[in-house]
Amino acid sequence: MDHSALADGVLSGDRRALARAITLVESTRPDHREAAAALLEQLAGSGREAIRIGLSGTPGVGKSTFIESFGLMLAEQDLRVAVLAVDPSSARTGGSILGDKTRMEYLTRHPKAFIRPSPSQTHLGGVARRTREAVALCEAAGFDVVLIETVGVGQSETVVAELSDVFLLLLAPAGGDELQGVKRGIMEVADIIIVNKADGDLKATATRTCADYAGALRLLRRRPQDPDGFPKAMTVSALEQSGLDKAWSEIRDLIEWRRETGHWQTRRVAQARHWFHEEIRQTLLARLEAPSARALATSLLQDVEAGQTTPTKAAAALVAQLWPEMTPD
Ligand code: GDP
Repeated sequence: MDHSALADGVLSGDRRALARAITLVESTRPDHREAAAALLEQLAGSGREAIRIGLSGTPGVGKSTFIESFGLMLAEQDLRVAVLAVDPSSARTGGSILGDKTRMEYLTRHPKAFIRPSPSQTHLGGVARRTREAVALCEAAGFDVVLIETVGVGQSETVVAELSDVFLLLLAPAGGDELQGVKRGIMEVADIIIVNKADGDLKATATRTCADYAGALRLLRRRPQDPDGFPKAMTVSALEQSGLDKAWSEIRDLIEWRRETGHWQTRRVAQARHWFHEEIRQTLLARLEAPSARALATSLLQDVEAGQTTPTKAAAALVAQLWPEMTPD
């Protein structure tokens, strides 16, 4: 495959080229991986930078409605918006978030928007890499905003938080008890908690829920990357499209402050560091899945089970055979 032509297509902002490039980075075929790596390296120098917004929320809170309304608002302001999804559950359910074409009906058709469903992947490591590379491709293609959506399951929020400049947690109006249900870990990575469905009968509950979360956020340890008042909680109605402009101005204020104070750059560097280590881990784990490594592991395991060696010695023997250069002198 001619990755130079593909790179030109991506750089010119051609959505079909971008879609093909993402398909390439999603492939696990060794020759595709090689071409993808070359493509990404070629595009790395584009110097283009999007605002990366992570968005997490359990099914039903209104993520797709929010992305549709919010994305259209940005597109109407002449901004180019890309939407990517991280869905580690898709392998299990067979479906995928964003896969349903009726979701984000108008945004899908908007010339300023690009929407990419989550591929079916078997493990989070693969999903993370694919999304990270897809984000890089969208940036090179000149998108102003990249929205990265995930359902709040397992570790996927952590993946999205490690990919985004600003992390939004979308919640539904709820009774006080349910506040306990939000994992502390995700509260700690949220920059803005958005209580959706603040309309009609739900409006009063949404306002109360928002106040509860604002109170909970104040109890968290102050983070250096936050200006006064952040992280914060606010209400919106994705359905009635109210509060979305406010959400966007909060995001921009936060980003502006982080840019001026250097926290934006620090965060991106920290993320690059994280992904470097993560990539090493994934590569090594993949090596362990190779047939020869598995055969060796199986035979060593039998020795462990038979009490002929200890788990420690057997593990050391395996590592020594697979990576002789890693054996300490
Ligand atoms: P997702 O699973 O998080 O993507 O949620 P959806 O966007 O599919 O929304 C789930 C349901 O909540 C749908 O029936 C939406 O119409 C409804 N919904 C989404 N946003 C709002 C809102 O702002 N107000 C109200 N009242 N309903 C909403």
